[in-house]
Amino acid sequence: MNKKTIDDVALTGKRVLARVDFNVPLDDGRVADDTRLTASLPTIRRIVEQKGRLVLVSHLGRPKGEAKPELSLKPVAARLSELLGQSVAFAPDCIGDQAATVVDSLKDGGVCLLENLRYHKGEEKNDPEFAKQLAAWGDIYVNDAFGTAHRAHASTEGVTKFIDTCVAGYLMQKELDYLGGLFAGPKRPFVAVLGGAKVSGKLEVITHLMDKLDAFLIGGGMAFTFIKAQGIEIGNSLVEPDLIDTAKSILADAERLGKKFLLPVDAVVAKDLELRSRPKIVDIGAIASDKAAYDIGPKTAHLFAEQVGLARTIFWNGPMGVFEHELYGGGTRVVANAIAMATKAGAVSVVGGGDSVSAARQAGVSDTLSHISTGGGASLEFMEGKILPGVAALDDK
Ligand code: ADP
Ligand code: MG
Repeated sequence: MNKKTIDDVALTGKRVLARVDFNVPLDDGRVADDTRLTASLPTIRRIVEQKGRLVLVSHLGRPKGEAKPELSLKPVAARLSELLGQSVAFAPDCIGDQAATVVDSLKDGGVCLLENLRYHKGEEKNDPEFAKQLAAWGDIYVNDAFGTAHRAHASTEGVTKFIDTCVAGYLMQKELDYLGGLFAGPKRPFVAVLGGAKVSGKLEVITHLMDKLDAFLIGGGMAFTFIKAQGIEIGNSLVEPDLIDTAKSILADAERLGKKFLLPVDAVVAKDLELRSRPKIVDIGAIASDKAAYDIGPKTAHLFAEQVGLARTIFWNGPMGVFEHELYGGGTRVVANAIAMATKAGAVSVVGGGDSVSAARQAGVSDTLSHISTGGGASLEFMEGKILPGVAALDDK
């Protein structure tokens, strides 16, 4: 990674303004899942050990510029304090006098968390005046919130214009190292497993990866636009008719470049997702006009698992079927396990995308895979080859 990190700057006695992603689920005023807190603990601990004065900022939910008490970060400060084993002061606003009082009373090695950034409209609008007020809390700025790095908000981009030293935290560094590593001399074969509902959401990922990868394994709803593009009937399966021509040209590109582009050969079909509608396994080409495909079939799962087994680098985005539904989670499970096995055998595996991450968890393989990206949208934009504004704004090495 070519960005400076917290290891490259002196932190002692400095006020360190750190943007973290503490957008955690709350339940009855308590943190229901602290994965995102623990993800930033290495960064927080390092700043504390170096005797920086740490000012944490984050958003939580979508309060749309209003102070909504149910979206307060206060319970997060309490949970963080437990995890960290030291007190975490809380300021009921992220700018103004109340924040100033808390920030000014920080001692070296002290930590505070400021209230939800999105209580102010200026955050998402990247308002320079708001950014400047935030910037007043830091001699050094640290971004450890990869999940919001694809948005140019005041706390991810605007603020960097008012602070001289802007560096990445360890979580940000890890994300960029793994995702960036996929493009920097990956071990081959490099295989993408792509699924999910729609082609439209993944089109730019496919086109950006086309010349960089060796093979594409396409499942999920998105496969059916490609199958339809080959002139095969798909019944009521998900299709994006206006993308059939694009699908045709992607298939032609893959052929011309000699890339493997595997589509399902069989599928699990049913009339609808209701329980009384019993699923059936059929070959592609034999989907009845009143049926829709909700998962890849066993032959396809086997074929994909075989290809994954040959891979040395794997990028996975998008479940192979409607995995939320017990009946249609089989294909995703088989593929997730194959990715886990390949990883144990030495392959590098990276998973991005919110639903894919929960599918990996559901399959029980999330601890085995090399890297689970914490940023759904951000990881996809990175894979599309886009520059993430929150990353671009950090100091180069
Ligand atoms: P991610 O969040 O990992 O990027 P997506 O949001 O693109 O993944 O896709 C996940 C959704 O795709 C899931 O809700 C799943 O039910 C849906 N899906 C997968 N396969 C199918 C299918 N054959 N038909 C309809 N929806 C599907
Ligand atoms: Mg999703």
